[in-house]
Amino acid sequence: MIKGQVNISGQFHGMEEREHYLVRNPANTEEIVASFPKLKREDVKTAIESAKNAFKLWSTKKPVERSQVLYKASQIIESKAEELAILLTKEEGKPIADSMFEIIRTINLLRFYGTLITQEAGRVIPSQDNDTFIFTRREPLGVVGIITPWNFPLSLPAWKIIPALATGNTVVWKPASITPTIGMELVKIFYEAGLPSGVLNYVTGSGNEVGDEIITNEDVDGMSFTGSLEVGKDINKKVGNRKRFTRLQLELGGKNAVVLTKNGNINLAIEQVVRSAFGVTGQACTATSRFIVPEDIAETVLNKLIERTKKLAIGNGLDKGIDMGPLASQEQLDKYLYYVELGKKEGAKLVYGGNRLVNEEFKRGYFVEPTIFDRVSPDMRIAKEEIFAPVISVLKYKTLDEAIEIVNGIEYGLVAGIITNDPKEMKAFMENVKVGVVKINKPTIGLEPWVPYGGVKSSGNDVYKEMGVEAINFYTTIKAVYQGY
Ligand code: NAP
Repeated sequence: MIKGQVNISGQFHGMEEREHYLVRNPANTEEIVASFPKLKREDVKTAIESAKNAFKLWSTKKPVERSQVLYKASQIIESKAEELAILLTKEEGKPIADSMFEIIRTINLLRFYGTLITQEAGRVIPSQDNDTFIFTRREPLGVVGIITPWNFPLSLPAWKIIPALATGNTVVWKPASITPTIGMELVKIFYEAGLPSGVLNYVTGSGNEVGDEIITNEDVDGMSFTGSLEVGKDINKKVGNRKRFTRLQLELGGKNAVVLTKNGNINLAIEQVVRSAFGVTGQACTATSRFIVPEDIAETVLNKLIERTKKLAIGNGLDKGIDMGPLASQEQLDKYLYYVELGKKEGAKLVYGGNRLVNEEFKRGYFVEPTIFDRVSPDMRIAKEEIFAPVISVLKYKTLDEAIEIVNGIEYGLVAGIITNDPKEMKAFMENVKVGVVKINKPTIGLEPWVPYGGVKSSGNDVYKEMGVEAINFYTTIKAVYQGY
């Protein structure tokens, strides 16, 4: 068992004086991965104070000096990629190849922002006066609070922390309680790479105490949160009640749809939908959870979907050739079982899966079957609410306009996909769906770090995008300078 540590003022502490909680392997809950301290408000206040004190030094480092730390961190991660991937799988449950994907993405993010920060400063704007030189400066916000979920416990925090540090901010980071170990490793790597003390603080414990202190503490200058709509709304209210305006980025849930048209390749659609619906056990914000198919070919498509789903290998993510690991927690399992029952009650037809796996191989973990509901109508709750588990609803349509209406007829707006070979359909879809990311003949899961990402409607407050060059906008403020000469 790993003894978990937090980091405050650049020091790693076991915080023996605090209550500790256990982190279990979701593939085998008898295996305890780590124990971590539940910090109290006063500990988080100390962490915020330390980030505030470290700001002067870090923000005045030259971009190239910050870049060197990021590059060094990328090399350290590369040197222990396999070890980190195994830890991530043990803690979160996803197949090892998916964990490795998170590691590679983190390396790419470090190198992307490590280079970008040496280029992005501000711009020169021609003045209306002959004797005036006008330029803008990008300046860091100060102390940034970062609160993250468990489903991508390494690369998702990385896509917030890296642009924050690159632009000269200092950070207080609260990871999700069920996946703190891989986060601790990331913090260790940053310090090993030469980050000065206090620049990145790591605080574990409950959302209600540790998270709430970050949200309400007036010394925090900006906050980036990814998680559920419910918590996001609560944070939005609390940030609105602070004494001063504070920059807030909210990235929330999704209920992503893929539309297959009669001009699309059915086999391609099946491969991509199966991968995106069940790939990380349906626990990706970009997962496909609605498959919208033409009414007159629906039966053929459904049969192919079931046949392909049957071939998925379910098991411990550390084993070779696994397509789908366990759900991440008891809470996730309960939610899955709740929605399976709800779908049946609502009158949808359960055509595949719907059960927890309980034989000898699976009974110690949160393993479930990939699940397909047919005859789902757009007004059913299983077609509207985020389940965040391997459950897909099949819906039928007659015209593309109707399909687009179904895509848009929910409160979320994160990702939408279309499978078609008709450029006119591609155009109509791309222009009319209300989402932050459109995928054409591509799976809904899978994002590239140099591309802006974020949802609209209830999928996020959409003030700033994450990743890409655009992430720099959230973590910096622009000052305009008029210089007379
Ligand atoms: P969650 O329950 O909202 O928790 C997210 C984070 O917020 C965790 O660190 C949690 O801490 C913390 N938290 C909980 N209550 C809080 C409070 N009152 N104040 C401050 N912080 C609080 O979400 P989750 O179950 O971890 O993650 C799944 C959700 O994340 C899904 O809805 C998914 O769609 C969304 N997600 C969105 C994206 C995106 O980019 N749009 C990406 C990934 C995931 P504890 O763990 O200690 O409770």
